[in-house]
Amino acid sequence: MKLYEYQGKDLFRAQGMPVPQGIVATTPDEVEGAARDMGRVVVKAQVHAGGRGKAGGVKVAGTPAEARAVAEKILGMDIKGLTVHKVLVEPALDIKTEYYAGIVNDRASKRFVLMLSAIGGVDIEDVAVTDPDKIVKIALDPAFGAPDYVLRQAVYDAGYDPTYHRTIIPVLRELYNAAVANDAMLVEINPLAITGDGKVVVADAKVDIDDNALYRHPDLAPYREDSFDNDMDRQAAEQGLTYVHLGGSVGVIGNGAGLVMQTLDVVNANGLKPANFLDIGGGAQAAQVVKAVSMILSDPEVKAIIFNIFGGITRADEMAKGIVAADEQMDIRVPVVVRLAGTQEEAGRKILEGSRFIPVANVQEAAERVKELVTG
Ligand code: GDP
Ligand code: MN
Repeated sequence: MKLYEYQGKDLFRAQGMPVPQGIVATTPDEVEGAARDMGRVVVKAQVHAGGRGKAGGVKVAGTPAEARAVAEKILGMDIKGLTVHKVLVEPALDIKTEYYAGIVNDRASKRFVLMLSAIGGVDIEDVAVTDPDKIVKIALDPAFGAPDYVLRQAVYDAGYDPTYHRTIIPVLRELYNAAVANDAMLVEINPLAITGDGKVVVADAKVDIDDNALYRHPDLAPYREDSFDNDMDRQAAEQGLTYVHLGGSVGVIGNGAGLVMQTLDVVNANGLKPANFLDIGGGAQAAQVVKAVSMILSDPEVKAIIFNIFGGITRADEMAKGIVAADEQMDIRVPVVVRLAGTQEEAGRKILEGSRFIPVANVQEAAERVKELVTG
């Protein structure tokens, strides 16, 4: 679950980190009002994407009128396909230096890895390409956490100005504590700013929480409702489906992430473009199949649908019932190719017999049939 900058900053502030006190606004009026109390402000688009600065979503305004004008531009703006509905208004900073500090939950080392760079304010992915040796990475041993001696070495190796080491080390310690306390996949400060008057400030916050750990964090529940970038993502989450839009024309539904990925590979290998990834998960019921079909059909690009069902915990007959129910409940105008195998496959086939669904023996055949149907 990705958090907006202001939500990440709330977590960081609660952790005692030096975060500016801002106001979240949804209208130019509110922004103007906030600016009246703050003086010179920075108005920042709140979307689940980085590079907002480059996209024109972060602007400094000297007067309330200017803040309003800037807000009028930013609210409603499109940044990487996401519409800006909210902005964060903060007292503007006089930034002298920008550093990068992040902690990522690293699968390979099974640890939180601290990443520091004296090159901040730009995408760390870019730094990793242009100056990989300018990024310090340290896997933190969970038994010791982020002790000062490790952090001291890290800020030294990163080339942070020694004047600020003493101030920055507690910020990094709390960044680590925030990651642990919230089961984060990523916590990032970019830029970690040094201001003209020598203050260390968390000028940006990026936080991604492990979805599988959300049950341990009822305090984060309010963020959940807010975390979906579009209706599809929300619907999918509500139904327990995993949906990712891919932009092609072949809808793909399967039970199990591996099965769906394999289907996508075969679709691609046959020169077709998948419209989506959709995993209905293990033990799905007919109702979820109906929902899945309706989600796929809401994408106007979809010209055909492939079902790839391998019955295990999920029963093939239950899936077949779902497919038939979907057909009864909505107007499916595209061909639907179905591969059913495994638990209750015979019963499933019977249910589909005589229907207009096209049975196939395997995924390769499914892709070939779709190709004929769509292109020929
Ligand atoms: P991002 O582009 O999405 O990562 O958004 P950031 O919050 O990092 O803002 C981008 C850039 O805007 C930063 O690297 C800063 O250079 C600048 N910036 C952000 N906040 C302020 C601020 O309060 N004052 C000033 N002067 N610049 C800011
Ligand atoms: Mn940033």
